[in-house]
Amino acid sequence: MTFHASILTLYPEMFPGYLGESLSGKALTRGDWSLETIQIRDFATDKHRSVDDTPAGGGAGMVLRADILAKAIDSVAADNRPRLLMSPRGRPLTQSKVRDLAAGDGVVIVCGRFEGVDQRVIDSRNLEEVSIGDYILSGGEPAAMILLDAVIRVLPGVMGNPLSGTHESFENGLLEHPHYTRPQSFESVDIPEILTSGNHARIEAWRREQALKLTAERRPDLLPAQPVTK
Ligand code: SAH
Repeated sequence: MTFHASILTLYPEMFPGYLGESLSGKALTRGDWSLETIQIRDFATDKHRSVDDTPAGGGAGMVLRADILAKAIDSVAADNRPRLLMSPRGRPLTQSKVRDLAAGDGVVIVCGRFEGVDQRVIDSRNLEEVSIGDYILSGGEPAAMILLDAVIRVLPGVMGNPLSGTHESFENGLLEHPHYTRPQSFESVDIPEILTSGNHARIEAWRREQALKLTAERRPDLLPAQPVTK
């Protein structure tokens, strides 16, 4: 089955961008996923082909017009794919959301620009707002690529070794343990001895302990709530 991505954007030439390289690029060529871009500007009606206007109520910047964006969205074949709007106000993207999306038929993604999009199109076209983090980009295109990158790598058949996906940070609720490879000694620092011991049970236990320690240090919010102690 092909995962179909439809991207609504003012910059279709940005796609597939880096998604055309490496793992996702090979998957695209193979047909594991497909990509369609829709130029929002093609739905403008005036001779200047303008898509934005000043915010009602005043203030800085411009807002993408509801009527034009709605027409662009309605031009995408009606099916059961979720319609996402990349937006810093959205629910933060997580690996479990990525897995959910990858299990479906595809996505329709609206890339915002300017100050954002008219609220009425978000409501009427049922757009689910998704954020890639607590910072502001100048447009939704890189956010859409990041979301697609994360989804494509977990599509069936995309990753060479399916197991290499399951130990990843966040997949088991923890950050991943540190990695080492040759040379055995680098600037007089050796690979931790346990990793060369060949004792798989001890290696697993060490990795889990390292993952817990890193998570506690860097992302205590990921750990299950600690029991209350007096
Ligand atoms: N005025 C808006 C930000 C607009 S940024 C606000 O304060 O919420 C312009 C566009 O970039 C947005 O419409 C959105 O599509 C995209 N964008 C910016 N930051 C993003 C983020 N963290 N995650 C996802 N999309 C983002």
